[in-house]
Amino acid sequence: MQLLKDRIRKDGKIKSGDVLKVDSFLNHQMDIKLFVEIGKEFKRRFADYEVNKILTIEASGIGIACIVAQYFDVPVVFAKKSKTKNIAGDVYTTQVESFTHGRTYDIMVSKEFLGAGDKVLLIDDFLANGKALEGLAAIVNDSGAKLVGAGIVIEKGFQPGGDRLRAEGIRVESLAIVESMDETTGTICFRGDR
Ligand code: 5GP
Repeated sequence: MQLLKDRIRKDGKIKSGDVLKVDSFLNHQMDIKLFVEIGKEFKRRFADYEVNKILTIEASGIGIACIVAQYFDVPVVFAKKSKTKNIAGDVYTTQVESFTHGRTYDIMVSKEFLGAGDKVLLIDDFLANGKALEGLAAIVNDSGAKLVGAGIVIEKGFQPGGDRLRAEGIRVESLAIVESMDETTGTICFRGDR
């Protein structure tokens, strides 16, 4: 998605540890006009698929998922992160290793909002090692729902998550795939650029 790639080149900041900061339009301040274009693009890419629910993970996936959901006309469910083991009630739960914080936390979704018969599209802001998506996919699997695919705004293609999930047969659609990024020069290369 050219609009997104141009924006990443213009406003993205490359940090140590292979972290790309996009706080000015995606992760802190949010550019809703850009989100609208992102929503339309995911709808176009998943046009041939039946989706009745969007699943994301708090916090940064929620804003994007809400705009995307308008184009699918479906509700959004977000997996809640929990620092404690003390998860009460009727929930699906799994563990996720955080890329940005380097620790493991539990995520959970109430059984009330996901189950057999649901056709679920996963939405998230970033795909790096794939742990967040894997956790969400495990919850969909546990619930008996069907996993339609995953829509990712920015995939870091030099990290293994995307390739592994595709090899597992999950349809992953990323709107911008960063092939490489150089902290010292500030250069970002996208897949398909050359
Ligand atoms: P994964 O589970 O695929 O390793 O990492 C995905 C999650 O980590 C995303 O939900 C995102 O919040 C965060 N993340 C991973 N890499 C980056 C990055 O380079 N920049 C930002 N802002 N978040 C990232």
